[in-house]
Amino acid sequence: MKIEKNKSLKLLNTFGIDVIAKYFVEVCSVDEFRELCRDPEFVRTRRLILGGGSNVLLTGDFDGWVVKNSIPGISIAAETGGEVTVKAGAGENWHDLVMWSIERDYAGLENLSLIPGLTGAAPIQNIGAYGAEQKDVFDQLEAIEIGSGDKVILKAGDCAFGYRDSIFKRQWKNRFFITSVSFKLAKLSSPNAHYRYRAEYGNVRAMLDEMKVQDLSLKAMSEAVCRIRRAKLPDPKELGNAGSFFKNPSIPQAQFEALASKYPEMPHYPQEDGRIKVPAGWLIEQCGWKGKKVGRAGCHKTQALVLVNYGGATGREVLEFAESIRGSVTEKFGIELSSEVNII
Ligand SMILES: Cc1cc2nc3c(=O)[nH]c(=O)nc-3n(C[C@H](O)[C@H](O)[C@H](O)COP(=O)(O)OP(=O)(O)OC[C@H]3O[C@@H](n4cnc5c(N)ncnc54)[C@H](O)[C@@H]3O)c2cc1C
Repeated sequence: MKIEKNKSLKLLNTFGIDVIAKYFVEVCSVDEFRELCRDPEFVRTRRLILGGGSNVLLTGDFDGWVVKNSIPGISIAAETGGEVTVKAGAGENWHDLVMWSIERDYAGLENLSLIPGLTGAAPIQNIGAYGAEQKDVFDQLEAIEIGSGDKVILKAGDCAFGYRDSIFKRQWKNRFFITSVSFKLAKLSSPNAHYRYRAEYGNVRAMLDEMKVQDLSLKAMSEAVCRIRRAKLPDPKELGNAGSFFKNPSIPQAQFEALASKYPEMPHYPQEDGRIKVPAGWLIEQCGWKGKKVGRAGCHKTQALVLVNYGGATGREVLEFAESIRGSVTEKFGIELSSEVNII
């Protein structure tokens, strides 16, 4: 393992924020990480585990260890007639894993195509898109507890998955280093496979029609999702961003009714728990932020929910911009936005 000192993280986060890590190390195996855990200095010091850096906002130099997870490997851990358990190293690129499964006719990940980042981060915020979440197919994960160096296996019941949420963003924040994640996928090659594609979400069906798809397939579903995403979201290689900056808030029914009488056009989605989900992008747009720029940070011109670094912005600038948005949404609607992006 090569330990680097005073390493720039500019190319290691999709916001493209230029901060310095005091120590930086890339870990390519479970044993390498265990070796690090044996160093009391490592265990005592502040640490940041980094995957693809597509869900973090780095607000200053990091006075500790940044550990980049690059543990590779995709394998089949178990198989039955209709199902396969695919185990992927935490350092595997997420979209590559999705493509790997589609090529083999393993179903369940196709709606999550083209989400940036690595597999080890997928359970952290229970990634989701187009009516699917990783928890729908999650089997288990393996991790190292950083304090003890012990290996643990965690099942879905341990992880408290929620909407862009899990126990790893709350009580167990910074406690575990995820080394692999396993997913249970349906085998479409099985003679009695009855797989239900999730095509009725957002404009997936319209895109499939535009593509003139007659028979649904994993490839077609994935391609439709990729086309929509490419058209909709800014490419971090061209414009620094971390996707949706805020979560969509869920508000109580009474608050919704009061707001709806003032804003009858407000989009809303009733949830199973009786609360009403409101798109954060709509709230932000109503406050006049869409396409606005303050200094080098701003709100994307077509996606109000995506904050961008127009070039050379500091993490603090982006954070202050986000705080201004949050403040005006609270003032206008009485709704507190919470960030989806991890503020470091
Ligand atoms: C253009 C764009 C579009 C996006 N679209 C979506 C979307 O549709 N749906 C969605 O859910 N997300 C989306 N995201 C957010 C992001 O891609 C996901 O959250 C992704 O899972 C982050 O992966 P990462 O490897 O980049 O994680 P990082 O940003 O590196 O890390 C995220 C968090 O996970 C922790 N972490 C990472 N790896 C490990 C590990 N191995 N062990 C323990 N902790 C770890 C980090 O410490 C950090 O707190 C989007 C981002 C961008 C830039």
